[in-house]
Amino acid sequence: MIARFRGKSPVAVAALLAAVAAAATGCGTASAYADPPAPSGTHAAAPARAAAGSPLPLAGEVVGIDPGHNGRNFTDPSFLDRQVWNGREQEDCDTTGTATDGGYTEAQFNFQVAGYLRADLVKAGARVVMTRTSNDGIGPCVTERAAIINASHADVAVDIHADGAPSTGRGFTVLEPVADGPNDGVIASSGRFAADVKAAMLTGTAMPVSNYDGTNGTKLRDDLAGLNLTTVPKILIEVGNMKNPTDAAMLTSAAFQQQVAGVLLRAITMFLR
Ligand code: ZN
Repeated sequence: MIARFRGKSPVAVAALLAAVAAAATGCGTASAYADPPAPSGTHAAAPARAAAGSPLPLAGEVVGIDPGHNGRNFTDPSFLDRQVWNGREQEDCDTTGTATDGGYTEAQFNFQVAGYLRADLVKAGARVVMTRTSNDGIGPCVTERAAIINASHADVAVDIHADGAPSTGRGFTVLEPVADGPNDGVIASSGRFAADVKAAMLTGTAMPVSNYDGTNGTKLRDDLAGLNLTTVPKILIEVGNMKNPTDAAMLTSAAFQQQVAGVLLRAITMFLR
């Protein structure tokens, strides 16, 4: 179900966002990586139960989260080098991801934000589908990540990454799909979601739009399986540049990671409601 924000009055939207913010409190103590594993084959978190007479703001919604890479990808180069069809061309199954100069890995950052976001979404009543449930594994391939989220029929989904660009580069970029067949039905909706994410990042964090990638914080990408193969509205966010000292100090901070999760929750709510 996708009911658009534009159909609601500003007052109704403000009340809704306040309810989401209230539902999201305490995210620092509850996170996906501390949870027991999801039932095998589903990777789905049970939705929070709504109190009688007060439905939670995202009740009935399904949200996909893909935390890029995995913590032990580096141990299996042959797995990563496996070639998969990304909808336009052959692509590596996955990569190790980048890291800060201090050694904090992108895989860890992605998983931390995903965990905070998952907890926030469950509190808001959504069902969450994750493409991985720990940071101690290998994979899955980018094609399987897309398939997991497609199979869930998520109402919206986000791929979480951070970049490894030259150290002078700063800022975030929201990557949007380009029509290629499988994703034709979700190009426009993904574009609307990208605008929601960009707006929420600019109002909710101190991270600027990228000064080296895309245009004013967004970029069309036709070379990524997660966007080429998606059949649900989806964007990929590069939250910052792990090789830039200013960005790295933010990206490695738990407070900033929770802030990004809150921003994504807000953008998801704007998009779905
Ligand atoms: Zn990445």
